[in-house]
Amino acid sequence: MTWEPVIGLEIHVQLKTRTKMFCRCPVGFGAAENTQTCPVCLGFPGALPVPNSTAIEWVVRLGLALGCEIAPRAVFARKNYFYPDLPKGYQISQYDLPSCINGRVLVPLPNGDHAVGIVRAHLEEDAAKNVHVGGRTGRIGGADYTLVDYNRGGTPLVEIVTAPDIHSAEEAKRFLQLLRQTIVELGISDAEMEKGTLRVDANVSVRPEGSDELRTRCEIKNMNSFTHIARGIEAEVERQVAVWESGGEVEQHTYDFDVATGTLTPRRAKEEADDYRYFPEPDLLPVEPSAALVEQLRAGLPELPAERIRRVGETLDHERALVLVTGGLDALWRDTVAAGAEAVAASNVIANQLVGAGVDPGGVDPAELAKLVEARERIPRQAFDEAIARVAEPGFSAAPYLAREAVSDAAALEPIVDAILAANPAQVEQYRGGKEGLLGFFVGKVMKETKGQADARAVNELVRTKLNVDV
Ligand SMILES: [Zn+2]
Repeated sequence: MTWEPVIGLEIHVQLKTRTKMFCRCPVGFGAAENTQTCPVCLGFPGALPVPNSTAIEWVVRLGLALGCEIAPRAVFARKNYFYPDLPKGYQISQYDLPSCINGRVLVPLPNGDHAVGIVRAHLEEDAAKNVHVGGRTGRIGGADYTLVDYNRGGTPLVEIVTAPDIHSAEEAKRFLQLLRQTIVELGISDAEMEKGTLRVDANVSVRPEGSDELRTRCEIKNMNSFTHIARGIEAEVERQVAVWESGGEVEQHTYDFDVATGTLTPRRAKEEADDYRYFPEPDLLPVEPSAALVEQLRAGLPELPAERIRRVGETLDHERALVLVTGGLDALWRDTVAAGAEAVAASNVIANQLVGAGVDPGGVDPAELAKLVEARERIPRQAFDEAIARVAEPGFSAAPYLAREAVSDAAALEPIVDAILAANPAQVEQYRGGKEGLLGFFVGKVMKETKGQADARAVNELVRTKLNVDV
């Protein structure tokens, strides 16, 4: 039997507002423990919350970008549970009346758009941070004691819940790349997984291909990069298929994915919503954004990444378009092409060399970059690499690098090419037997031998001529 994965994602995004969700404590990393707190975010009796209007505008902005309906009336509720990082004994969140519902994101994939439903996006406050000391690193089990840093407590969070519309680990990764870039461009969060400002849990189940049933799902947590998420989903799909195929029954569980070993360890039985005893927060009024505000925010939306992937994909192939847009590189690419560079070459140089050299694309003068792209096969490789490394420096000029002559003189190159062909007879034979992809292997060796000073185009031609003629 063929099995189809059914995947839904729950994404938490920490907003980068200046202050917390319900008090005026600053939001941010790096301050000494328990210095960014006040009676509200420490849950002192009688302290009253005041909602952050910027956070409310930002969740609406995000909802609009995700194609959601904006609720004319959203309600904050108390989600009751006890944990040391939650001093009030409840988290303020939106429950049955969230700010954004019924959205839809069209994820551009190589074979067309794939629609992922957005069930809801709502506002809530983050918990503080437990620090488990001693024992196994970072885990409560076996720790000697636990400290709590309340600085993070009360930071605005948006929770986004997708419909179970995703059917492979790869689709999940593509969706998340697109969502992350959208969030970053809206300017509402840095959305960095390694800093915890973007957190993703995946709900995974499998079903026989072609059926529309929904079987028992499991949740995977503790994944800190898109690649890990994809691997975690793959491991869980494999585990569930094995359970069903051996005649067993998948039980609802939460798993931690261990990146190092690729294994899943069970966490705890998942709470049902009833366990939280939600009720409307009596200290806060409903959130009622005016229609005028919603329209003003809608009009202010920039052109979104999904749109741009489609547009760039008309000139380049899908994969290149995706890399440029989700890397925040497409504006530089567009301007470099407008300045005269060839589209595919410009994309390759930007996505590979520029990113590889750790260059900030924001500092690059597209006109100078275009000159380098155009000359990349004519100037020595070394000069090109040096120029790329410095292209974002203020006042950079390509001219001195373009003036450096590459060795293109056949008389100088011929003995080197001959020696390399003679030293690799097996590859020469394979090439002549039809494996033409080996051309790059010989060219690479010549470039290395000449320490990058040779003209790549001249080397290419010379190697090809020799391989084709000197039988
Ligand atoms: Zn506070």
